[in-house]
Amino acid sequence: MSLLKITRLGHPKIRQGTEPVSSEELHSPEIQRLIDDMVETMRDAHGVGIAAPQVHVSKQIIVIEVSPENPRYPNQPAVPLMVLINPVIMEHAETTEDGWEGCLSVPDLRGLVPRWTRVKVNGLNRRGEAVQVDAEGFFARVIQHEVDHLNGRVFLDRLPDLKTLTHLREYELFWKS
Ligand code: ZN
Repeated sequence: MSLLKITRLGHPKIRQGTEPVSSEELHSPEIQRLIDDMVETMRDAHGVGIAAPQVHVSKQIIVIEVSPENPRYPNQPAVPLMVLINPVIMEHAETTEDGWEGCLSVPDLRGLVPRWTRVKVNGLNRRGEAVQVDAEGFFARVIQHEVDHLNGRVFLDRLPDLKTLTHLREYELFWKS
């Protein structure tokens, strides 16, 4: 396994959108290695999720893992490692909740983003089996953030008020509750 270079905002890959992964591709050693490398890269950067465009690949692959010990998002409910291929949000709650988000592709910034409180997502696992995920709270937030990446969107596009945008140090000083 190896660490991948993270695509930063401004690189065209972040805005380009993605193609679904075919069943043949998914079983290829290249895509399986890419998934392993995305997991390693996410963990190394203390991310709670990463999408393929964030490692310069325009494919519909996301990886999520939340640990309460994560230094970037401490005290969130744990989500075991999850790999989702071609994820589609099928249903969502009507209610939204504001929460702080950052992004490995938008370093050192955080903003207050409204997200649906609950989502149902269909996709495939890394073996190509159909899975349905029912997520709420922070987990639902992370899924929506990562699915946005597959559609060329970043959290900044979802900020209703740019005045909540803050650097991390200033977040710790003035915004953290
Ligand atoms: Zn992101």
